[in-house]
Amino acid sequence: MELLYKSTRGNQTKVTASEAILQGLAQDGGLFVPERIPRLSLSMEQMKGMSYQEIAYEVMRLFLTDFTEEELKDCIAKAYDDKFDTETIAPLAKVDDAFFLELFHGATIAFKDMALSILPHFMTTAAKKNQIRDEIVILTATSGDTGKAALAGFADVPGTKIIVFYPKDGVSPIQEKQMVTQKGDNTMVVGIHGNFDDAQSGVKAIFGDKELEVQLKESGFRFSSANSINIGRLVPQIVYYVYACVKLLENGELKPGEQMNVVVPTGNFGNILAAYYAKLAGTPIGRLVCASNDNKVLYDFFQTGEYDRNRPFILTTSPSMDILISSNLERLLYLTAGEDAAKDVELMEALTKNGKYRITENMKERLKDFCGYYATEEEAAAVIAGTYKDTGYVMDTHTAVAACAYKKYVSDTKDKTKTVIASTASPYKFTRSVMDAIDAAKYGELSDFELVDELSELSGIKVPKAIEEIRTAPVRHKTVCEVQDMKKTVLAFLGVE
Ligand SMILES: *Cc1c(COP(=O)(O)O)cnc(C)c1O
Repeated sequence: MELLYKSTRGNQTKVTASEAILQGLAQDGGLFVPERIPRLSLSMEQMKGMSYQEIAYEVMRLFLTDFTEEELKDCIAKAYDDKFDTETIAPLAKVDDAFFLELFHGATIAFKDMALSILPHFMTTAAKKNQIRDEIVILTATSGDTGKAALAGFADVPGTKIIVFYPKDGVSPIQEKQMVTQKGDNTMVVGIHGNFDDAQSGVKAIFGDKELEVQLKESGFRFSSANSINIGRLVPQIVYYVYACVKLLENGELKPGEQMNVVVPTGNFGNILAAYYAKLAGTPIGRLVCASNDNKVLYDFFQTGEYDRNRPFILTTSPSMDILISSNLERLLYLTAGEDAAKDVELMEALTKNGKYRITENMKERLKDFCGYYATEEEAAAVIAGTYKDTGYVMDTHTAVAACAYKKYVSDTKDKTKTVIASTASPYKFTRSVMDAIDAAKYGELSDFELVDELSELSGIKVPKAIEEIRTAPVRHKTVCEVQDMKKTVLAFLGVE
């Protein structure tokens, strides 16, 4: 059955999945949501034995109904291949009594790879389906993780170019090296003299420049976004929750019909929303624990029903969760308001105007499946150190926030439901913070790459290719520009005068 997408703000005609992927954001400023959440047509039992790619197809065909079987299978095969360092794509590691769903085995060793490996293929397929002949130019501002994952995804994909802006002095040495060594003639990486907000505002200004849009169109280009509000990023993230459940059933950890809980380290609310969509589609998920770091705006929201971003922005060792406006929460609000677009608009306007809003008691009641927990910097570090000492398992700083939230949840509720913790980055991506958590006195003096070797020795896990490669890779991107010259830089790269 065909599934169309509508806007959470209610003022856009319904579009097909491929159109929603090409547009990214709806024209009325809302987010695209499916007009209904489709139900999985196979039971968990029936999916036993299926590969990641096969389950991906089962899930995606329900959400992306205007893609043909051949198109979807082709996208899946190109995305989930030997870029991943394990055939299982998203392995589960049992540590103590919890299951860590490792989503970091892709090209850039963070969970963004799960969606950004396939998004470029969705986009080029969608462009073809909609008779768009323009070359697609992806523009991204990044504070580190998304930029590299998007670069890796789009590199050498025919019909696309990608330009990433990052704050020259605002990313870690490993993150910078990962980006400036990116291969692919269709890629460009630019450091800007400014912070992440400057980069983000600059990109938004370019997107909003109507004159530029016309000028580019004449030269055969159109902009698009690889941002996490694109449904082309949300849908692939549903897959691994279904997959985790099937695998737990397969190895006897779950009995048929038994539910599992999930704990997700959350920033923009994309990953945990995907888990909720998986639940609504029929995956036996019980509670969804939303884990925050010191920027605990979501924790407060689930406690009180009030979302309030008026607070200091705290820099933590889990930077991908340092966020005060969780864009994807809008999709959950829309659902809990009974798909009431007017209510959604009211709340989003309040957020823009006052930086806060409060949901109704009725809506709060509908959020019962969720609960929020948070971890301070000390608590997260203690979980990394403690788990390593007790089990030998080393986790990254974001996963540690989730593991800590899980401990607090169990201690509060005594809930014994089997639990999957979304493990969103390899410890190698945040080596300095991870090693400091384990033994600051011992490792404090070493360089980032020396720490990589120490981590390998201590964890017994081979240094991932993503890190090994950048040690010696030549720097290919040296462009640095002022914020006001971002547009000029884009035009020069595209060869447009
Ligand atoms: C992006 C990211 C998150 C947050 O995910 P959301 O979908 O934005 O909630 C958590 N951990 C890591 C390592 C990330 O890169």
